[in-house]
Amino acid sequence: MHEMSYAIRLVNMALSAAKDNNLDNVDSVSVEIGQMTGVLPHLLIEAYTSASKGTILEGSTLDITTANVTALCNDCNITYEPNASNNYCCPKCRSLNSKIIRGRDVSLISITDYEEI
Ligand SMILES: [Zn+2]
Repeated sequence: MHEMSYAIRLVNMALSAAKDNNLDNVDSVSVEIGQMTGVLPHLLIEAYTSASKGTILEGSTLDITTANVTALCNDCNITYEPNASNNYCCPKCRSLNSKIIRGRDVSLISITDYEEI
């Protein structure tokens, strides 16, 4: 399952963030899923639930937000959302010479422990 590899990475990222912040319990973990990953939120939650078993993340809530794909045009330096309506090219200079700067990964946004609630 595609989602499992992301879930394992998320668990590792959240565990090291918890360690860095001296948290010994975690209530919720916020993550951002880029559209390009093709990750389905409900499958990620299932995978996360099993990947976090036996760790301090067990039983924590996974809060998921979806990130649109954002590209940076290498020719004129603007950022835009590539999609079918602009043929995936830069709306300003029509260049296809761009790089994806957001939306192609699953990233950890924050973790919350019980005390903060
Ligand atoms: Zn451009």
